[in-house]
Amino acid sequence: MIRNPIPWPNNAKCAVSISFDMDADSLIHISKPNDSFRRLYPISMGKYGPNVAIPRILDTYQKFGLKQSFFIPGWCIKEYQSQIELILKDGHEIGHHGYLHEDPIKTYGNQKEWFEKTLEIHKEICGKYPIGYRAPVYNITDEVIDLMIENEFKYDSSMMADDIPYELQTPKGSLYEIPVHWGTDDWPPFAHYEEIGYMMPVQAPSKGLFGFWEEFEAQYEAGGFFMLIIHPFLTGRLARWKQVEKWIEKTLSTKNVWFAKLEDIVQHLEDLKNKKIWSPSVEKLPYYTKKIL
Ligand SMILES: [Zn+2]
Repeated sequence: MIRNPIPWPNNAKCAVSISFDMDADSLIHISKPNDSFRRLYPISMGKYGPNVAIPRILDTYQKFGLKQSFFIPGWCIKEYQSQIELILKDGHEIGHHGYLHEDPIKTYGNQKEWFEKTLEIHKEICGKYPIGYRAPVYNITDEVIDLMIENEFKYDSSMMADDIPYELQTPKGSLYEIPVHWGTDDWPPFAHYEEIGYMMPVQAPSKGLFGFWEEFEAQYEAGGFFMLIIHPFLTGRLARWKQVEKWIEKTLSTKNVWFAKLEDIVQHLEDLKNKKIWSPSVEKLPYYTKKIL
């Protein structure tokens, strides 16, 4: 059971979001800045995302009439502008995902420059500022949350304190949190990337994706929220995406779900709150203000 379930539009039983983090080859450049440009294999693995997987994913979304959310580092927005145009032309959302996938913990104290540089790229290339953010490697910090509030963001999607969206309250303001979890992230079953420190045993498509569908069934039964956090260069590959596409088709024809962009989910929550139909659970930040030991 879920405390405080959200009434979804049109009496849908569960909201669903397939969110893609299009990191492309930013991962190798931030990890090996001295010689990444010589490392052709990981560059090519990353480029598969925008060049091969994104058109495939967009075709599926067009076929089913879905609008979804993509989180893309600022450098990738500049580097892959033709794919950005395709994503925006189809009405999808692009959220803030750092500049070059820098880890906010490793760059603590210097996030303002990275964060604001990325905002300007959004404005210049996407035509507007983003309202949502997902921290690279989920490593959100108080520094980034303050920057989000200063820049009038509406939501973060990096934390894990509940099954369904909730509210973050800080001394400077509040945001919605659209929670993530490793159980619905494709990194554990599919990422095999020694150069950046991940050596996961790659699962067969059906086995790697199976856990996601179990997560969905539980959320559906509870009237909750189901979000995938996946990567074009991993789950956008042929055999895996074929299975996701089949799952979308089956889910649309047999379940009462609302597929939505995160910005639309947040707008819905805001409307419910304003009309006093529902109020979010609240997490107050900071959790701690000094070292524990
Ligand atoms: Zn990422």
